[in-house]
Amino acid sequence: MTMVSNPAESAIMSDQPKQNQAWSNWAQNFTSNPALTFYPDSESRVADAVRVALRENLTLRTAGSSLSFSPLVTTQGVLLHLDNLTGITSIDEEKQRVRVLAGTTVKDLAAELWTRGWSLRNQGIIWEQAIAGALNTSTHGTGRGLRGFSSMLTWVRLVDGRGEIIEIGEDDPRLHAVQTGLGLMGVFLEVELEVVPRFFLEETFQFPHWDVAAKAWENEVATNRNHGLMWLKSDTSAQEYSLPSPDGESMANRTVYFQANEIDPIPENDWSDRIGARRGPAYRVLSAPIGEGAKLFYELEYAVPYEVILEATALVQRQSELHPEQNHPMFMRVIEADDSWMSPFYERESATISVAGMPGTDYWPFLRAVHETLMPFKARAHWGKLHLMTREDLQRAYPKFDEYVALRREQDPNGLFLNDYLRPLFA
Ligand SMILES: Cc1cc2nc3c(=O)[nH]c(=O)nc-3n(C[C@H](O)[C@H](O)[C@H](O)COP(=O)(O)OP(=O)(O)OC[C@H]3O[C@@H](n4cnc5c(N)ncnc54)[C@H](O)[C@@H]3O)c2cc1C
Repeated sequence: MTMVSNPAESAIMSDQPKQNQAWSNWAQNFTSNPALTFYPDSESRVADAVRVALRENLTLRTAGSSLSFSPLVTTQGVLLHLDNLTGITSIDEEKQRVRVLAGTTVKDLAAELWTRGWSLRNQGIIWEQAIAGALNTSTHGTGRGLRGFSSMLTWVRLVDGRGEIIEIGEDDPRLHAVQTGLGLMGVFLEVELEVVPRFFLEETFQFPHWDVAAKAWENEVATNRNHGLMWLKSDTSAQEYSLPSPDGESMANRTVYFQANEIDPIPENDWSDRIGARRGPAYRVLSAPIGEGAKLFYELEYAVPYEVILEATALVQRQSELHPEQNHPMFMRVIEADDSWMSPFYERESATISVAGMPGTDYWPFLRAVHETLMPFKARAHWGKLHLMTREDLQRAYPKFDEYVALRREQDPNGLFLNDYLRPLFA
């Protein structure tokens, strides 16, 4: 590739971008060889990198922690890593808002918030995501009345597809499009999120049989702050996610409850990080590290209207039985409706159902069967996970799809942020 000589961009080029450095996501199901990989350490360097891509007619994608199972980050053009843009920049105590640089991980953000008296309202089961990655894919936890990450976003400073730094705040209708931006609306530099005064949680795990868990679902959702459950198809399903299980008992057709409830503050020597019995700061009970040596898997997750969850899961279980080599737990969670245009939870209280493909097997027939099972329930895909939705499916499922695409074209008139996966869906 030809090197750029424009002095306006010489600063970022003098950072010596990596050329043809291989990239892979965590699950290793997607790889690419970007022509140039940058690790900018300032806003202006990010804008420079965008202008380099424009000048060289290259596409550009931004990586968070590369945890998504879908090919959101793949590019043959320019890849940005914002690992050098981290840390809290300000906290507005009155408005209960934090401003943080986009490359900060959920873990570092939550830990720093805690020391300053604040918490995120909810989190997913892991915390290694970059905050911009979690926002751009509508990452979520579980719990009635609790929204996903995207809806926490109240302001963002970003570099658009022209290489301009712009701000989008609460009074700007574009905010709802940018909240679940998929990396298509610009490179996030700094974000503002709603936070809540810090609180303590205690976790309990239970392992009821599926029939009991299904009957109790409504009541457990109503009476626990956070309730999610995994259904285990076979005796060995729990091992795929290294889940605890009671000694010596068959786990086939049992479930694992993930429940957490608020407790009064406890001193630090009473905190526990033991999975299944965690107790302490909310952020340490809601999420855990992926862990060294975690087994790989290939996850698909769809959100359906909350009311149909039990009907839908019964059909997914039937598909799972028809694919005996697919042994991972099925995960059910609850998420409050939000107003982020491309969020799976847009204007709809939702329940999510996730399944996973087993490495070393032909898992696509199973994932396709689950897709076909869930589409009649008006399913919407999790953007960070595998899915089989076409552009026509998206148009039907997301009421704001056409407006989103129109705004994407305004934000990025040259299609700089499109890759081979996103172009057919959003060009
Ligand atoms: C083991 C495991 C457990 C998981 N658990 C959960 C869970 O409990 N709940 C859940 O909802 N999801 C979960 N996920 C999915 C995960 O939260 C999402 O895929 C999330 O997007 C990953 O964050 P990331 O920082 O790795 O983003 P990446 O995968 O790197 O990127 C995701 C998207 O964000 C964009 N992006 C990143 N940074 C920027 C930026 N600065 N500006 C603009 N766009 C940007 C990327 O371009 C891409 O489109 C899990 C994934 C794994 C592997």
